[in-house]
Amino acid sequence: MASDFIRDMIATDVETKKHDGKVVTRFPPEPNGYLHIGHAKAICLNFGVAKEFGGKCHLRMDDTNPTTEDPEYVEAIQRDVRWLGFDWGENLFFASGYYDKLHEIAERLIRLGRAYVCDLNEERMSEYRGTLSEPGKNSPFRDRTVDENLDLFRRMRAGEFKEGACVLRAKIDMASPNMKLRDPPIYRIKHAHHYRTGNAWCIYPLYDFAHCLSDSIEGITHSLCTMEFESARELYDWVIAAAEMPWVSRQTEFARLNLTYTVMSKRKLLELVEGKFVKGWDDPRMPTIAGLRRRGYTPEAIREFCSRIGIAKNLSTVDLALLEHVLREDLNERSPRVLAVHRPLKVVIDNYPDQVEELDAPYWPQELGKAGSRSVPFSRELSIDAGDFMEAPPKDFYRLAPGREVRLRHAYVIKCERVVKDAQGGVVALHCSYDPQTRGGVTADGRKVSGTIQWVSAQHAIEVEVRLYDRLFSTERPGEAGDFKDELNPQSLVTAKMWVEPSLKTATSGDRFQFERLGFFIADQDSKPGTPVFNRTVSLKDSWSKQTAKPAQGAARAERAKEADRPEAPPRAASELSPEAAALQGAHNLSADEARVLAAEPIILQLFQAAIAAGSDPRATAKIVCNDVLGETRARSLSATPFSGDDVASLVKLVVDGAISTKQAKDVLGRMFDAGGAPGPIVDALGLRQVTDAATIEGVVDRVLAANAGAAARYKAGNVNVLGALVGLAMKESAGAANPKVVSELLKKKLA
Ligand code: ATP
Ligand code: MG
Repeated sequence: MASDFIRDMIATDVETKKHDGKVVTRFPPEPNGYLHIGHAKAICLNFGVAKEFGGKCHLRMDDTNPTTEDPEYVEAIQRDVRWLGFDWGENLFFASGYYDKLHEIAERLIRLGRAYVCDLNEERMSEYRGTLSEPGKNSPFRDRTVDENLDLFRRMRAGEFKEGACVLRAKIDMASPNMKLRDPPIYRIKHAHHYRTGNAWCIYPLYDFAHCLSDSIEGITHSLCTMEFESARELYDWVIAAAEMPWVSRQTEFARLNLTYTVMSKRKLLELVEGKFVKGWDDPRMPTIAGLRRRGYTPEAIREFCSRIGIAKNLSTVDLALLEHVLREDLNERSPRVLAVHRPLKVVIDNYPDQVEELDAPYWPQELGKAGSRSVPFSRELSIDAGDFMEAPPKDFYRLAPGREVRLRHAYVIKCERVVKDAQGGVVALHCSYDPQTRGGVTADGRKVSGTIQWVSAQHAIEVEVRLYDRLFSTERPGEAGDFKDELNPQSLVTAKMWVEPSLKTATSGDRFQFERLGFFIADQDSKPGTPVFNRTVSLKDSWSKQTAKPAQGAARAERAKEADRPEAPPRAASELSPEAAALQGAHNLSADEARVLAAEPIILQLFQAAIAAGSDPRATAKIVCNDVLGETRARSLSATPFSGDDVASLVKLVVDGAISTKQAKDVLGRMFDAGGAPGPIVDALGLRQVTDAATIEGVVDRVLAANAGAAARYKAGNVNVLGALVGLAMKESAGAANPKVVSELLKKKLA
C-alpha cells in the first residue's frame, strides 16, 4: 500500500510508542441510508491502516438521530463492509449503546460548570451566535446555577418539556473565532422512538458531543474523518478535555471522494429511491456499494480504485472513467469470454451439411494463460450481429460484406455470397459459403482474413433479457447548476434482448462473462433457472484511455457550448490530427489517439522523448505513457512524474523482452509512482521476473505435452483452439512463472 500523510503520521506514532504503540481506528456510519463508493474510501482507509499496523478497526453505528435511522440500514452497512473484504471481529458498536454514559457525562459537565440549559429558541440562538466577523453574545441563561441546570436537565430527560423548549449547551466561548465553539448545543429534546432504545429516551445527544466521546470510550487512537469536520476538531478536543475523559482520541481529516456523473450524499440518494427515480438502493445505476455489487463490480476493483486515488487533504473530483478503467482491468482477468449477438442477422451457410458440430471454444484469450473451455454448437443457420455486415463498406471495414471473408470466432472462415432483402430493401439474410479447411480459424493456404466476429447457432441460441446500464446522470457535476434530479440520464437503463450461446443457460446470479465485443456482463438476481437475465457491468470501450487521448480543449469547448445554450460543436473527427500530433504519428508510427495525447500533454511527451532517446521502442513506450502513466498522473493530480524517461525505457524493455507481462508492468508502474525509481529493483523485490529462458520453459512444455497427448493430437488434427488450454496447463505447471508468449511459441513449434 502506498503511503500517505495519514499512514506516515501513524507510523511515527507507532514508532514513538504513542498510545503504547496501539492503533485503533473506527468506521462510523450513520444508519440512515446505504453506503456508497465514497464510504468505501473511508472503509478502505480505516480498516486498511488498522491491518497494516497490526491494530483494530471498529464498526460503529453513529445512531443518535432517532427519526432517520433504521435497522434495515444497519444490516445493509454490515453486509457491504463485509463484502468489501473487511472484518470488525467483535468490535461492532453503537453510539446508542452509550446513551447512559453520555447522559452521565453531560451531568458531569453541568456539575463542573461546563454546560447549561438554554431556553432560547432556534431563531434567537442563531441571533446570539454572531457571525464570522462579529463575536456572539452570551445567552441570558448562561449563568444559571449548577443546581438549576441539573434540575432542568433532569426535567428535560423526564419529558416535561416540548421539543425545542430548551437545549443543553456546552459553555465555551461566545467570542471564539471558531463558530463551533460558541456554546454549541449538545443535547436536545426529541419525543421520538429510536430503533434500538425504543421510548427509553426523549433527549438525544448531538453529533459533536456523541462522536468524540464514543471515540474516547472505545479507546480510538486515530479518528479519521473527512475535511468538513476540520472546524469541529477544536470542539472535539474541548469535549474530551472538559469531560476529563481518561482516553484522548485525536481527529485527522482527509478529503472526501467526489466522482463525476455521480451524487454522493445519502440525502440525495434517498431522494432518488423515494422518488422512484431508481428501483431501490441496490439499483445497478446507484453509486451505493449494493448497487455497484449488483451491477457487477468486484470488491477487488473497488479496493484497487481506492488505493489508486490515494489519501490527501486537497479536494478533488475523480473521473468516473477511472473507476470504470480499474473495473475493466479486474473483470478482464475473471470473465470468461462467450458469444452473444445483439441485433441478429440471419446467415445461411449454403455449403455446410445439415448437421451440428460441437466446437471446443476456450474461455480465455491466450495471453491470460488460463485453461478452460466449453463446447459451442455450429450449424447451417447462424445469427451474426447486424452491425458486422455492410453492403457497401469502406475499405477498412474488416467484417462481412458481399464477396468478402470474415472469421467466425472459434469456427470457420466464411464468405458472403448473396444478400437477401425485403420489399423495402432492408437486408434480412445473408447466404454464405464456408471454407472447411479453416476450422478453428486458420486458413490452410495462409491467406489473410483480418476480421473475427461473434455468432450463435440460430437453432441453439437462447434469447435473454439484458439490461444495458449507463451513467445515471448526463452531466459531469449533477446539481451544480440546479436540481440534480433534472440531470438524470434518460438512457441510463435500456432493456434489450440478446441471443447467447447455449452454455449460458445454466448461468446463475452473480456469474460474470465477457460477451465478446459487447461488454462485461453479470447474471442478475432476477435470473430464473434456464432463463438468466444479464446486467451490463461496463462496456469494453475504455473511455478513460480514450478521454486521456482527447485534446485538452475538449471540455472547455463543451463548457462554452453549454454557456451559449447550443449543442456542442462536433468533436474533431478521429482521423483529423493537429499538425503536431500528425508529425508525431508519422515519425514513430503511433496510433492517432497516442499521437493526440502526446501532442496535448507536455509531461507525457517529455517522458516519451526521453525514453526514446534512451533507445526505447516508440510504440511500446507510447502505449505505456499515454495510457498508464497519464492515467496515474491524473488520478494522483501530479504535475510531474517521480521517475525519469530512462526508468520508462527500462520498464518498456522488461515488457518487450517478456520479463514481465503488461499487467505486471502496471503494478510496477504503480510502485514507481508510490516510491519513485527504477523498475528493475521493484520487479526483483516483487519477485515478478518471468522465466523466459527457453531451456527451462522447454522442460515445462515437454512435461505438459507428455501428460496431455490427447490434446496434442487434437491440435495436430486441426483444432487450434486446444493451444490456449495447453498454454494454460504449462502456466500452471510453471506456477505462473513462465512467459505465456514464449510458452505458446514453443508449443506451436513442437506441435507443427
Ligand atoms: P453523506 O454525506 O453521503 O450523507 P455522511 O458523511 O453523512 O455521508 P456518514 O454515515 O456520517 O455519512 O459517514 C461515515 C463515514 O464515512 C464518515 O467518517 C465520513 O467522513 C465518511 N465519508 C462519507 N462520505 C465520504 C466520501 N464521499 N468520501 C470519503 N469518506 C466519506
Ligand atoms: Mg454524516
